[in-house]
Amino acid sequence: MISVAEAIQIVRQQTQTLSTERVELEKTLGRVLAADVIADTDLPPFDRAQMDGYAVRANDVKETPARLRIVGESAAGRGWHHQLEEGQAVRIMTGAPVPAGADSVQQVELTTELKDGTVVELLETVETGKSIVKRGSEITTGEIVLRAGTTINAAMMAVLAAFGYAQVEVFQRPHVAILATGSELVSVDQKPGQDQIRDSNNYSISAYAELAGASTERMPLTRDETSLLETQIAEAAKRSDLIVTSGGVSMGVYDVTKAALKELDAHIFFERVALRPGKPTVFARLPNGTLVFGLPGNPVSVSVTFNLFARTALRVMQGTAEPELKRETAVLARSVKGTVDRESYLPAQLTTNDDAELVAFPLKWGGSSDFVAFALTTALVIVPANVRAIEAGALVGVVRLP
Ligand code: AMP
Ligand code: MG
Repeated sequence: MISVAEAIQIVRQQTQTLSTERVELEKTLGRVLAADVIADTDLPPFDRAQMDGYAVRANDVKETPARLRIVGESAAGRGWHHQLEEGQAVRIMTGAPVPAGADSVQQVELTTELKDGTVVELLETVETGKSIVKRGSEITTGEIVLRAGTTINAAMMAVLAAFGYAQVEVFQRPHVAILATGSELVSVDQKPGQDQIRDSNNYSISAYAELAGASTERMPLTRDETSLLETQIAEAAKRSDLIVTSGGVSMGVYDVTKAALKELDAHIFFERVALRPGKPTVFARLPNGTLVFGLPGNPVSVSVTFNLFARTALRVMQGTAEPELKRETAVLARSVKGTVDRESYLPAQLTTNDDAELVAFPLKWGGSSDFVAFALTTALVIVPANVRAIEAGALVGVVRLP
């Protein structure tokens, strides 16, 4: 049995990053940048007014009220490109270029126009530099604005657009085939008969895989027969980077997933992890290079093991800088029990308290099959192996679930 950390290490080592592709900007939300993004212009590209008002020389407004002659107007997209001289002012709008010779912008609320708009009276003095954002003060040309390995979020779409990235070089999305095994399983649109249950894992797994950036397909439900499973895995391997099965990895007579993988000459990297829930998790590679995770069938084990291991592989495939779930520290709100020889990942909800500390509320749940209770989970509390219990108030490691 290997530790969770060792298992994650093996996943990272054995998973290869996919190639890159150029994608239209509007299709890149959630994709991972394959190259640094470089500014092709200064930001702002010119000295920019931050307020509606008057561009002036601060020296001309030392004594107030000061009267200045309005010599022009600078609007966004249509600037006034002359030299501002002593005693002059230019009417200016937010976002417009500040004319040469002006060194400050007084906001319109502190001014009055006189004589049919040919003169402006400024009621207060103005500091040099007021309401002007200098050219290049935010970003200078050639600067790296986003790093390769970053997952593109909504705000980054604006950054890419601002620097002319109509197409973006990103890593390819992995394709994941999802395969539920178990002779008891029927599909969602059927009423389970005697001894049957509906397959639910296929849906959580494909949702988690999509949250991890993958495209997915669900294979037909497969009975606990080695040859059937072999056929489905071989079929799925033709068109996927990763196959995720659930069920059939325990020690029972009908647990045939490993037998099928062996028949297909898969190389098995690990098949037991010191983890609760999720001990019998399998990680393997088929001769054609497709990676396989054989997750235990219990729906809660599926969520935990998918997000610790399969998600990490999917993020490595996409070249992300930090492929693992980020570990944070929280105050434990209720005591939890650990397990001999195994690290526990227990369902919890995260909130903050009045001291702005992160607090983890472990959820009461009926074990690794209690997926209805698990649906309220937002994070997992980590209890190290061989720790008998952690008391309320102690600090614990947590990972947020996607
Ligand atoms: P197994 O790992 O095959 O021993 O399955 C463990 C438990 O998970 C059993 O109670 C199964 O019926 C259940 N289970 C297995 N596969 C699924 C699935 N696709 N959806 C819901 N429950 C499942
Ligand atoms: Mg089974």
